Amino acid sequence: MAKILYFNIPGYGHVNATLPVVAELVRHGHEIIYYCGQEFQTAIEKAGASFRSYPVAELDSRMIAKIAEHLANVSKYLMKSARTLVPFTIAEIEREKPDLVIYDAITIWGRIATHATGTPSIASYTIMVNEGRKIEIGCRKMTAFAVTAIPKLPSILINRRTLMQEYGEKALQAPLFPSKAQKNIQFILPSFQPETPFVDDTFVQVGPSIDSAMRQEAPWQPPDTDLPQVLISLGTVNNQNTHFYRSAFAAFADYPAQFILSVGKLIGLDALGKVPNNFLVKDSVPQLQVLQQVDAFITHGGMNSVQEGLYYGVPQVVVPQQMEQFINGLRVAELGAGALLDGGDNLTPEQLRDALDAVLTKPSYRMAAAQLREDARSAGGYLRAADEIEAFLEDVSK
Ligand code: UDP
Repeated sequence: MAKILYFNIPGYGHVNATLPVVAELVRHGHEIIYYCGQEFQTAIEKAGASFRSYPVAELDSRMIAKIAEHLANVSKYLMKSARTLVPFTIAEIEREKPDLVIYDAITIWGRIATHATGTPSIASYTIMVNEGRKIEIGCRKMTAFAVTAIPKLPSILINRRTLMQEYGEKALQAPLFPSKAQKNIQFILPSFQPETPFVDDTFVQVGPSIDSAMRQEAPWQPPDTDLPQVLISLGTVNNQNTHFYRSAFAAFADYPAQFILSVGKLIGLDALGKVPNNFLVKDSVPQLQVLQQVDAFITHGGMNSVQEGLYYGVPQVVVPQQMEQFINGLRVAELGAGALLDGGDNLTPEQLRDALDAVLTKPSYRMAAAQLREDARSAGGYLRAADEIEAFLEDVSK
């Protein structure tokens, strides 16, 4: 049986999908030591792994939430954290002597440390890979992105150069992220990942990694109504957009549907103003259960939410709060399973209403979502991920 070290970042979107895989590997007798932020300790231990926290106190999901609006902030922060976390990860590998290291594809310290120590490695991805692909994001978005990214570049580049000087030219592969490993497992639908040269035959897409029992959610009591039901959520990180919530109230107060709104734990419910009668507002909902009962999902386009929605065949309206979510939304729209809106300050109640109307009434959205649901089910999920990891272990032990 193998000893596996798993390095992740403290974000629900990055951790949730990995827990069913961890539990399955533990059931097969493997030992897993999982490095993450303190707040994930209980969930990680429930999955059967031993928990270890990182030495960087500020590497927690609140910190990530604070900076996550702009990808450049995240890159700057992770590059800076890597300066401390690479030596830490190397020391852990040398002490624990694992058979395998699995790391989330944005934990650069996983890539650099396995490279430096020659340890077999697998990267897990809760993201789509866009490296090497041209995406039409439009001039306005590109300019806004550049304006926020350019001031961060010197710090990112200095840290990147220092890491490469210390650990070798090949320590980092893509210009920034993702950090490719010997084998690469993506928790997204095969049809969701567009073709790019970066995604080679070391990659496998296993679809959403869903085991609802792992979430330890309280049973969901759906609202007692014959109306269509719609889940609205901006996820767990960039979820403090009061303009969006107020626009949704204005758009749907008299709309013939029951809305379930998860606003997250970062915003006070009083910040929202008067809540219409057809809205049930919570700081968190058992999303996997709710998705099984709703007719549409208005989502920020976080990769897990998008994949979970597709897993349950729910058509979506994507209102991205940052660039990566916008690109996910573009893909949902390309695949025909939803509509994409500009989720920023220009979003109007009319746009929201029209998009939901279309998604609820045009059969093409439901049909595309139903087709993707089938693809998701046949991709294999966490069981396939565990099989792939074991096959890799067998290969490297030969
Ligand atoms: N989630 C949940 N209940 C909620 C809101 C979110 O269980 O009320 C879960 C959701 O199922 C998903 C994760 O939190 O697994 C959010 O991840 P995603 O990648 O969609 O977005 P992020 O929060 O990272 O922006």
